[in-house]
Amino acid sequence: MGRKSSLGKTPIGKASIGSLIAVSAAALLGACSSSAQTSVISVSASFYPIAEIVRTVGGNEIDVQDLTPIGHDAHDTELTAKQLQRLEKSSIIFYFGDDFQPGSQKAIESQSSQKIVDLFEPSTVNGKELVVPRISIDSTCQGCESGKELDPHVWLNPSHMITLTQIVQERLSQLAPQKRDFFVSRATTYMNQLSELGELIDSSFQRCESTILATEHNSFGYFTSRAKLSPLPLAGYSPDQSVSGKELTSLTALLKKSNVSTVFDEPSLASDLVKQVANSIGAQVDSLNAVESITDEQLSAGESYISIMKDNIQKMKKALRCS
Ligand SMILES: [Zn+2]
Repeated sequence: MGRKSSLGKTPIGKASIGSLIAVSAAALLGACSSSAQTSVISVSASFYPIAEIVRTVGGNEIDVQDLTPIGHDAHDTELTAKQLQRLEKSSIIFYFGDDFQPGSQKAIESQSSQKIVDLFEPSTVNGKELVVPRISIDSTCQGCESGKELDPHVWLNPSHMITLTQIVQERLSQLAPQKRDFFVSRATTYMNQLSELGELIDSSFQRCESTILATEHNSFGYFTSRAKLSPLPLAGYSPDQSVSGKELTSLTALLKKSNVSTVFDEPSLASDLVKQVANSIGAQVDSLNAVESITDEQLSAGESYISIMKDNIQKMKKALRCS
């Protein structure tokens, strides 16, 4: 319950809130004459950043369930019976395929293909094919045949969030064409905020003493690519990939040589690896949030993808000694 009500806090400006209230009032008035005008679209989103996009674009015209539990790492979610029930009833389901969340992906892909949208796949918006560009990362996973994987953490570059917002807006508008103007207006406000966030990343790391970002797992590749920083992940692209003793020794040597003064962990991952590595090189530990989920406290405090990303930027600037 807490999640549903908290998700109402979305990063929309005051003007939009005003128009939202106007729309809500109109919807209430309309309820007397036509029940169709108040029908709410039931949507499922596989994890928080997608749920935020859907909630922000759809406002009170949609009801979204986030399939990743509050405060939980996104990679290893399993759906409950209640979530499965809700999934069945959803008019549309947005998710990332490619085994990013294998537990929920299987359940999602057993639904009608008409109502599932894999946001890693190309989508047509206004006659144009949109797709989020994926990058390869060196994977440290044992037994990976190619040694290369496509990084799933696309949302950490706000440009990709803009593309995802366009796709979500289009699909919601196809479901409820009479609400298209409402969805487009809200999507535009959100995309402007995402665009400003991207510009903040571009300007924040131009004068730094170090450009090497040491993180717990390899989730920040899209961010470092945008910010022109060099990622140095302690584990592979997925948090359950461990590092061998030999790898740890060479990693520690590399961090020392690179003059890394802060190693970042992630609050949703329960790992001692960062502490262990930081202690061995006399570095500090700080936390970055890869926005794979959000806590009740953060939602209650009005936090969002954008505010969490701004917090990440400030911490990185401090760690890399940027002016
Ligand atoms: Zn991740």
